[in-house]
Amino acid sequence: MKIIMLGAPGAGKGTQAIKIAEKYGIPHISTGDIFRANIKNGTELGKKAKEYMDKGALVPDELTCDLVVDRIHQDDCANGFVLDGFPRTIPQAEALDAALQKDNETMDFAIDIEVPDDNIVKRMGGRRACVNCGATYHIVSAPPKAEGVCDHCGGKLTIRDDDKPETVQKRLTVYHDQTQPLIDYYRKAGILHSVDGTQSLDDVFSEIVKVLG
Ligand code: ADP
Ligand code: AMP
Repeated sequence: MKIIMLGAPGAGKGTQAIKIAEKYGIPHISTGDIFRANIKNGTELGKKAKEYMDKGALVPDELTCDLVVDRIHQDDCANGFVLDGFPRTIPQAEALDAALQKDNETMDFAIDIEVPDDNIVKRMGGRRACVNCGATYHIVSAPPKAEGVCDHCGGKLTIRDDDKPETVQKRLTVYHDQTQPLIDYYRKAGILHSVDGTQSLDDVFSEIVKVLG
C-alpha cells in the first residue's frame, strides 16, 4: 500500500500518517522530519535545508527527490509506505512516478486532507513538537498527558521555528502556489481521495480507513 498525504501545512498529515503507519504496518516517511533530524545532527544537508525552512520556503527539489527515492527503496518499504510532506511540487511528483515506473509500480492512494486557511493558522499556533522524537501535539485538541513533556519518549515539547505566524502565512502561500496543483495531478491519475480535515482526529482517521480499506 503506497500512500501520499496531501494538504496544507498543519492540515494534519503527520498526525494521520502516524496512525496509518501503525494500522497498516508500513513506514511513515516525513521529509520535514528527515530535514529536522539533519538540522539537529548538524549535517551539510541540514545546514542547507534550514536556510529555506526558516523562511517558510521549500527546500529545492535537487536536495529532496533523491533522498526520498533512496528511502523508498529500503527493505522496510517492500510492502508500501506513507509519504508525509512529499511530493510538494509537480517535479517531485514526476520524480516519484519515474522512480516507481522503473520497478513497474505506481502510487495507490493520494489522500488530501482539506482544511481552510483560517483554521490552519489557529492550529499552527497551538502545535507543539517533541525535540527528541518529533511527535506532534496540540495544546487544545491533542494535548500531552503532562504539559510540555512528550507522552512517547519524555522529551521536551517546543514550538517549531517555522510555526511563527508570519512564517505560517508564507508557508500557506507557498502551498497554494506550488503544492495545491498536485491535487489535480493525482485526480487525473485516478488515485485522489479528499477527506474533511476539520473533523476530530478520530473522525478524520475513520474516513481515511474507509478509503484505504
Ligand atoms: P501537518 O503534518 O499537516 O503539518 P500536523 O499533523 O502536525 O500537520 O497537525 C498540525 C496541528 O494540528 C498539530 O498541533 C495537531 O495536533 C493538530 N491537529 C491535527 N489534526 C487535527 C484535527 N483533526 N483537529 C484538530 N487539531 C488537529
Ligand atoms: P513539514 O514538516 O512537512 O511541515 O515541512 C517543514 C518544512 O520542510 C517545509 O516548510 C519545507 O521548508 C521543508 N520540506 C519538507 N518537505 C519538503 C519537500 N517535499 N519539498 C521541499 N521542502 C520540503
